[in-house]
Amino acid sequence: MLARNGAMRITENCKLLILGAGSAALLVVACPAASLANSKCVESLWPSAKSAGVTRATFDRAFQGFAIDPEVIEAAKYQPEYVRPIGEYIDRAVSDKRVEIGKQKLAEHQALLGALESRYGVDRHVVVAIWGVESNFGVQPGEKNVIRSLGSLICSNTKAKFARSQLNSALKILQGGDISFESMNGSWAGAMGHTQFIPTTYSAYAVDHDGDGKRDIWGNVPDALASTASYLRVSKWRAGETWGYEVRLPKGFNPKKVSEKTLRPVGAWQKLGIVRVNGDPFPRLTDQASLFAPEGTRGPAFLLLNNFRSLLRYNQANSYAVAVGHLSDRIRGGSRFVQPWPTDENRLSLEQRTELQQLLIARGLLEGDPDGVIGPATLEAVRGYQRAKSLPVDGFPSQTILKLLRSEAPPAMVPEGTSSIPEAGSSLPEAAN
Ligand code: CA
Repeated sequence: MLARNGAMRITENCKLLILGAGSAALLVVACPAASLANSKCVESLWPSAKSAGVTRATFDRAFQGFAIDPEVIEAAKYQPEYVRPIGEYIDRAVSDKRVEIGKQKLAEHQALLGALESRYGVDRHVVVAIWGVESNFGVQPGEKNVIRSLGSLICSNTKAKFARSQLNSALKILQGGDISFESMNGSWAGAMGHTQFIPTTYSAYAVDHDGDGKRDIWGNVPDALASTASYLRVSKWRAGETWGYEVRLPKGFNPKKVSEKTLRPVGAWQKLGIVRVNGDPFPRLTDQASLFAPEGTRGPAFLLLNNFRSLLRYNQANSYAVAVGHLSDRIRGGSRFVQPWPTDENRLSLEQRTELQQLLIARGLLEGDPDGVIGPATLEAVRGYQRAKSLPVDGFPSQTILKLLRSEAPPAMVPEGTSSIPEAGSSLPEAAN
């Protein structure tokens, strides 16, 4: 790649060869093909970085010896909050061990959490719960260099749009000196530190709580927890209110007939016969709430309030926000959900899920290549099938549905796939937006 002064820049993966001798000697740069492609890709990122105010020195430091990280690409294709059944995800995110450590952290950081509560109006249990779910209280903040991760996503065209939206922010953070290149680590998606802020979220909302001039969400717990509280406050968190309630549905009520997006006052839901599982009254009947029953009548159901929608700003997966809300309640001393998640008996293996998708594709209910990953498109296809067969519509890809689809399948059933299924991973841990 050519630098501004026209000199050849050589990445760490390339070799400098001298061919011939004397004045006829040729200086040749030999790079592996992939490395050359990487260099081209990296150079294509410069104009935008420059416009954003990144200096060439910062840019070169950030991409010195750049090579795509294959682990990042692999991780980008697997996101537990979408791939796992919601009950399994929540049970793991809210393990007894995590509840116990959360209680310890609550005591250990009592003064700090109290200060954050008064300053930002965000419940200390929620701040600790986010810390727990995001990075296991700082134990698992991710060890991938953030610039390399974003560069890998862009240059391999995997979630490249997201990575491009983050790269210049990441370079500016590096340039600002809050963190060194070596320590600027995070998840495969560039979520960084205790709070797992992606670069744009960091740039907009990270806070220097201890006043040392640096916003250090990687190594400084006061900065990290203050940043979380600050971000929730900006996300319209309301002090003194909870995230939602586990509720009991009246007999014969089909939650899947109600869109998860429908907002009604709690009082209106109550008129339909919906009550809290513990028998307590709803504190405020005017709260705008949505009904969420991801496993239909076979698992817990919730009324979700304003603060739940604030949690979704951190990560837009409902499963994530329920996990954070539930963990905060458990850390406060609350009990487990009354209604258990459904057991695995009727669940499908990867092979069976792939077959289910093939059968749904054959019926024209789903498009793309079957991959066994159950995401929004497959769930909608199952719902479509259930509607067509006048079955209870819960979108659950069960053995029952698979057997029915098999019994109706024509002999040559799978058409040539054309494109991959746009789901499971179409959604990133998007703290921002
Ligand atoms: Ca600081």
